[in-house]
Amino acid sequence: MSPIIPVSQVDCQVPAWKKLLKTAIKDPLTLLETVAVDPKSLDFSLSENNPFSTRVPQPFIDKMKPGDAKDPLLLQVLTSHLEELEVPDYSFDPLDETQNQLPGLLHKYHGRVLLILAAACAVNCRYCFRRHFPYQDKMATGDQLNKAIEYVRNSESITEVILSGGDPLMVSDDQLRNLISQLDNIPHLKRLRIHTRLPVVIPQRVTNQLCQTLASSNLDCSIVLHINHGNEIDPLLSRAVNDLKHSGVTLLNQSVLLKHINDNLDALCELSERLFQTGILPYYLHCLDKVAGAAHFDLPMNTAKTLISGMRNRLPGYLVPRLAMEEPGRPAKTIVA
Ligand SMILES: *Cc1c(COP(=O)(O)O)cnc(C)c1O
Ligand code: SF4
Repeated sequence: MSPIIPVSQVDCQVPAWKKLLKTAIKDPLTLLETVAVDPKSLDFSLSENNPFSTRVPQPFIDKMKPGDAKDPLLLQVLTSHLEELEVPDYSFDPLDETQNQLPGLLHKYHGRVLLILAAACAVNCRYCFRRHFPYQDKMATGDQLNKAIEYVRNSESITEVILSGGDPLMVSDDQLRNLISQLDNIPHLKRLRIHTRLPVVIPQRVTNQLCQTLASSNLDCSIVLHINHGNEIDPLLSRAVNDLKHSGVTLLNQSVLLKHINDNLDALCELSERLFQTGILPYYLHCLDKVAGAAHFDLPMNTAKTLISGMRNRLPGYLVPRLAMEEPGRPAKTIVA
């Protein structure tokens, strides 16, 4: 039998972000209730018992406008029956990512390797291209992670490791510190990059320990956040970004162009300006990957191109993200505009 530990003692060992993960809302009706939106006021019906479950942490809900059925943050995370439609050309693995070199390792582009550290995310974005991804057997954990590190050590052309997922910040600070200290000892590695949405939905994820780990690494660290709308930036997130910047981390952002969420010039320009105010540079604006269940978020390519040229006319060049898409088998992401 394991010893009995008083609840209060266990509690104080659990970081705040993990508690917020646990208490995330997991069904669409409770989500609507929390933001005071009447289900009848929606333009679509909900999809209950969706195999890609509902998951929305409270700090993200706090940024939604109560009572607004069209809130751009709500629409990113609320299930819709439209997800159940079969649409031609929208497939289960649009990027062909099940063809890894090793479990949890994707070496598609020159000099950069992607490590899939965690299966889950803190939030389930309804448009996600990884919604059908068979994570369980594709993740780098335990011995597979050791093999992936060995692969990087033996490939001298690799100068950058990208931690991805799922969301790589789902793993604990101790695990990250351990991994990064091993990467620190690989002489040909120069950069470490983390692709994450966790600080956006739970800013408390940016802990002192995480900042210390990144600050003390001898790799140049960057974090690519995933923010789609200006309303996702609030004082809590700004503070987290500030802490990361003080740790010497370069902050970039990638967004996905999404129908009814950020598909207009005002929203996109406002996003870029708020990112810059917060100390984050726009990097990519992705065209939606054609994944089954997400077709209702998609926009014609011409709309995307028009929006980007509109941004270019309004903003300094450094606030215009690159419009990008991924096509299987190419040596880099395709820059559309
Ligand atoms: C997007 C991506 C990268 C990083 O590409 P950058 O253009 O350097 O941001 C690396 N590996 C894989 C598999 C990717 O999908
Ligand atoms: S955080 Fe990223 S990987 Fe996770 S569900 Fe959202 S879009 Fe997908």
